[in-house]
Amino acid sequence: MKVALVNPPRFRGVPVIREDRCEITDRGSVVPPYSLIQIASQLNHDVWVIDANGKNMGMNEVADALRKIEPDVVVIRFTPTTFDNDMKVAEVAKKLSSTTVGMCWTLIPFAHEILKTSPLDYYVVGDYEVCVSNLIDAIEVGENKMQGVAYLGDGEFIVDWSSPAFDYDSLPLPAYDMIAPLSNYYINTPHGSPFTIMYTSKGCPYSCIYCTVRRTKWKGRSAESILSELRILKKIYNVRTVSFFDEIFTFDRNRVVELCERILKEDIKLRWYCNTRVDKVDFELLRLMRRAGCRGISFGVESGSNEILKRAKKGATVEEAEEAVKNAKKAGIKTYLSFMFGLPGESWESVNETIEFVKRVKPNGAQFNIAVPYPGTELYEECVKRGYVGKIMNWRELYQHKAILRTEQMSKEELEKARLMAYRSMYFNPRWILSNALWVMREPEELPLAIKYYVKSLKNYFIHRMEHAH
Ligand code: SF4
Repeated sequence: MKVALVNPPRFRGVPVIREDRCEITDRGSVVPPYSLIQIASQLNHDVWVIDANGKNMGMNEVADALRKIEPDVVVIRFTPTTFDNDMKVAEVAKKLSSTTVGMCWTLIPFAHEILKTSPLDYYVVGDYEVCVSNLIDAIEVGENKMQGVAYLGDGEFIVDWSSPAFDYDSLPLPAYDMIAPLSNYYINTPHGSPFTIMYTSKGCPYSCIYCTVRRTKWKGRSAESILSELRILKKIYNVRTVSFFDEIFTFDRNRVVELCERILKEDIKLRWYCNTRVDKVDFELLRLMRRAGCRGISFGVESGSNEILKRAKKGATVEEAEEAVKNAKKAGIKTYLSFMFGLPGESWESVNETIEFVKRVKPNGAQFNIAVPYPGTELYEECVKRGYVGKIMNWRELYQHKAILRTEQMSKEELEKARLMAYRSMYFNPRWILSNALWVMREPEELPLAIKYYVKSLKNYFIHRMEHAH
């Protein structure tokens, strides 16, 4: 069979990240379609990867490419806010009589509505790492029993929510050759290209009420499996920067220690970044991570108010966040903090606590979003109960820069105002600018990156008013 895996075009010119829980428009990053190249490496069919987002192809170019291929199956990644844009690829595929398969983590609870209202024949609701290749094999032989897949049979919604068990170490390495060169890709600024994202683990057992990954089993790859990918990225693709996209990279401390020690022993020179929780790092670990190439960590802090964190079931405190930032800085690792306004209980008082927290800890960068009631989360259920959103909401509105819910004390307009206020109080704070300048003086190779980051941030603030993620 001929199979085309498509990462659709950008959204009104803005790049889109369509990877696992991260399904957002982001003006500052062009991320490789990791999930699609991972699927590509597993398929025993003729495979094409069309990364329209990465190559900045328009819809007409995608249509031309598909017409040339005449694929039997077209697999499309889509996101909530870019839904109509992404579905145009499915429309083209249907005109070519291809079978269409959709993948989007955030909208899985709305699989039925999506299938009823889109040109998709199948929606993958299980682990794509195994479910997509099984589905395509099943389509080839006309079978209908598939784990982790939803579809409409004679108008009736048929779904199997289960996924076959599998071991991440047993997966083949992603087919990077299908999207090379990796110099097209970057996160925040093109400074660190060639660049890629990769996963060393998936899942998170914590219970944050706003999160679509909450209470999923953490599954990690072994140090050897991660190293085998890093070696190839370095040797064949000349990659300089890697961003580990895991939810909690340091969940298993021993694994990170082994990985870092082996990176040092093998002298794999890469700059890498990761995401983790503030209560999952300590100074010793951070120091080792820095020696092994870690240059930045993104921590989900969410709020400077312990009361808000408690109601959000974050399971971490403001004090722990402060300690983590302090230790990371001491170890020489940059910190990027994510916050959200609009969690239950948010008021001007808690907004100010967040702003004061940022002023106090002075991270290298921060992102301020507005809480989004993603379907299936506890926050969504709460919003439905309060009448803030409908049971089937318009998922095209799920932007992180625009409020679609209010809190007891703050209106939507006030939440949007608070977000801009928080950015303003960081970008124009002379102490924050000075702390970054001092950092650059200690690490002069960071200078071009720091300048580009600051210029980009100001442009986003003044020209785009911080629309989309930045
Ligand atoms: S710790 Fe992070 S990934 Fe885990 S549930 Fe909370 S927000 Fe989600």
